[in-house]
Amino acid sequence: MSGIIAQNINQIRASIPDYIRLIAVTKTVSPTAMREAYEAGIRDFGENRLQEALCKQKELQELTDVSWHFIGHIQTNKAKKVLEHFNWIHSVDSLKLAQRLNKLAEELACQPQVCLQVKLLEDPNKYGWEVPDLLADLPQLELCHHLDIQGLMTILPLGLSKTEALATFMAAKELAQEINQQQYSHIHMNQLSMGMSGDYLLAIKAGATMIRLGQIIFGARKI
Ligand SMILES: *Cc1c(COP(=O)(O)O)cnc(C)c1O
Repeated sequence: MSGIIAQNINQIRASIPDYIRLIAVTKTVSPTAMREAYEAGIRDFGENRLQEALCKQKELQELTDVSWHFIGHIQTNKAKKVLEHFNWIHSVDSLKLAQRLNKLAEELACQPQVCLQVKLLEDPNKYGWEVPDLLADLPQLELCHHLDIQGLMTILPLGLSKTEALATFMAAKELAQEINQQQYSHIHMNQLSMGMSGDYLLAIKAGATMIRLGQIIFGARKI
């Protein structure tokens, strides 16, 4: 018999299309539970706290075919470590951070895959570009040749109705299309990282390609 984590993953997988990249968000989750998720087929882990993530990466280093996704705000002095230890950065949330990551990526000779974090609704608690600011920064982001800019990431404010949530996810999809129409050569909006435990089905309906699920896989977080 498989454990509850595997059951949860199997149930989620059965309810979403195959092309969706299911990122297991493992903040506060133990390496043992992460191994169980791996056994159930998970190959993408998302973490938002660098120190915690580095400890767990060390413990799980035999899992060599895992992609690590950084999904939290990056302090300037942590940017290099994030580049060194993660395949994806979903939370590039300002031009200043993008430029810093670009410079470091050049020095490290790497080309991280990144999403640009955007705030489609006002939300004082969230990092990210507001839409007009993101559109205004695109010409400078285009010059960040060492970043592989693949799409948008968004987190909804708390307390939206289903209708509002779906409309907001659809606005993200439309923004991605609008940016693609501008035909930048280094900015490709083919990925939409959106949808968490409470709203991932709506996000998929609106065109999400990557969903970031924590509690629905591992159970409620205490902190
Ligand atoms: C914690 C977190 C998630 C997962 O949230 P759940 O409600 O546990 O599914 C997704 N994205 C980000 C950026 C997070 O910090």
